Amino acid sequence: MVAPPDNDVLWARALHYTHKDGSPALSGVSLGVRQGEILAVAGPSGSGKTTLLRCLAGLVRVREGEVWFNSSPVHTPGPLARERLRRDRFGWIDPAPALVPELNVWENTALPLMLRGTSRRRAKGTALEWLERLDVGELARKRPHQLRQAERQRVCIARALAPAPTVLFADEPTAPLHRADRGHILRTLTTASRSHGITVVLATHDAETAALADRTVALLDGRCVKTVELPPAGDTTEGRAACSLSV
Ligand code: ADP
Ligand code: MG
Repeated sequence: MVAPPDNDVLWARALHYTHKDGSPALSGVSLGVRQGEILAVAGPSGSGKTTLLRCLAGLVRVREGEVWFNSSPVHTPGPLARERLRRDRFGWIDPAPALVPELNVWENTALPLMLRGTSRRRAKGTALEWLERLDVGELARKRPHQLRQAERQRVCIARALAPAPTVLFADEPTAPLHRADRGHILRTLTTASRSHGITVVLATHDAETAALADRTVALLDGRCVKTVELPPAGDTTEGRAACSLSV
């Protein structure tokens, strides 16, 4: 086992992953993510983006290959150690906003900080700052069901950024949103990450989103490829004009 190069915060070599039902998802993916960069993982639906992010974040253990975070292996520790790594160093944003319905917006946002041991008072202060940055500060005392979907997704992004994770995994974070909401949220996410030195791994199936990243890794059928056909933003229907993304 060889530790990754020093300038890569995250590094994966020859990842193979097959789902429990036998569906192949990754077939020999290798990549490095540099400290502070925004890396897009682009590819059409089913190309393995979510599986790759889950392997890199230690949510699932790879069957074959290696994943390293700084100089620590992510592919060998057991579930508890990987859970601690995710809690202390990683953030995650899902395509659909998932919040705890019994907690209000600031409590949801403060939750990861409190899980890390931050006091309720400090966690609340940090949560409120991030909610302001995401333009949902005035909703801090509302419950998730009182919010629109785009507002709930802003809260999820504030929740992921508030603990200042070393690496933020964003799995198609704006996929279910209208174009106007999408652009604004993505700009806020990328600006906040750059100003706080947060490394971002951003899965996307549209070329416009990938264009916001510093660099793109393209996936097709579980392999890294040089060029991938991606629909323009907002077009998820098959058979429409596709644009080609070369990396
Ligand atoms: P993407 O995020 O690019 O849409 P995924 O990583 O979700 O791609 O899927 C890659 C492949 O793995 C696809 O063939 C998909 O059908 C399969 N797959 C994804 N999740 C599961 C699962 N939970 N069980 C079985 N197969 C899955
Ligand atoms: Mg996916």
